[in-house]
Amino acid sequence: MPRRMMQRLDAFMATANAAYYASRDPFADFTTAPEITQVFGELLGAWAAVCWQAMGEPNPVVLAEAGPGRGTLMADALRVIGRVSPEFAGAAQLHLVETSPRLRAVQAQKLPGAIWHDRVEHLPPGPLILLGNEFLDALPIRQFIRRGDGWAERYVGSGGFVECPVAAPAGAPGMESGQVFEIGEMACELVRYLARRLAKDGGVALFLDYGPEHSAAGESLQAIRDGQAADPLAAPGSADLTAHVDFAALARAARDAGGTVAGPVPQGMFLARLGLFQRSGQLARHLPPREAAGLIEAAKRLAEPDRMGRLFKVLAICHPSLPIPAGFEP
Ligand code: SAH
Repeated sequence: MPRRMMQRLDAFMATANAAYYASRDPFADFTTAPEITQVFGELLGAWAAVCWQAMGEPNPVVLAEAGPGRGTLMADALRVIGRVSPEFAGAAQLHLVETSPRLRAVQAQKLPGAIWHDRVEHLPPGPLILLGNEFLDALPIRQFIRRGDGWAERYVGSGGFVECPVAAPAGAPGMESGQVFEIGEMACELVRYLARRLAKDGGVALFLDYGPEHSAAGESLQAIRDGQAADPLAAPGSADLTAHVDFAALARAARDAGGTVAGPVPQGMFLARLGLFQRSGQLARHLPPREAAGLIEAAKRLAEPDRMGRLFKVLAICHPSLPIPAGFEP
């Protein structure tokens, strides 16, 4: 097949996801922590307020979210911030990084006064607090496959993979022929940028996403179409494409760029330390029994190890002078 008819996997994934998020309601296909319980965004709001204090209460401060979806996380966070720290609420300038015009419109309903950007790199300079839930998993990846003594990279052509021989990719673990190794180059570049920026201007970035603790061989590209697992290469733009986030690689990238890293820690532990169950119990006391039970069940869904509690990880990138953020204590 001529090379021009093929797309490298990361280019394919970028185009397919841009089309997907621009044309579909992703939340018809999957749900996310902030959509499961209001407590998720509330805890992150309180977490951000504590970080702001530790940063020396800069005014103004850029309060940003990458990939805000329906805007639920930030709306829940801002409600708590307004209550626990009116000074932070007054200093915060709300910036959202979102490429989908459709989701921007949904976010505008919930987050009046926000300013939108296409890329994290376009956020205004200055002290920053950035949140990103299930954002990194949507960023394009490359896949390399071990073939005998050599390596090939996966391209996409005519709905299938095409392998092109390449030199060994940097950082690949020892692997057997036929095994796949993934690289999230765009996520690493983003984290490098953030680490440099945070070291210079101050602040912290928090990412929550699913992925293993250590970089490993293996294939994690997956597609969800109409709520079901689907072929990632068929009908580009009709399915949500994601891959596991390589937190170990991201932590290395952030440190190399001069940032301090906290985590990754399992989401269940992080949220429990921030008070997930106390806050859910407190809210539940004022609800009718069915809704109260629903709220407690939602908390368990986010935190239990065999559900979202262990596979999901949390990583923070900080200015080197900041104390270890809440939830990451050893
Ligand atoms: N954080 C939300 C939504 C997760 S879905 C939640 O937890 O519910 C992923 C989000 O990232 C969507 O808002 C999607 O439009 C956005 N997104 C995906 N790829 C992006 C990119 N390359 N740049 C900016 N936003 C992107």
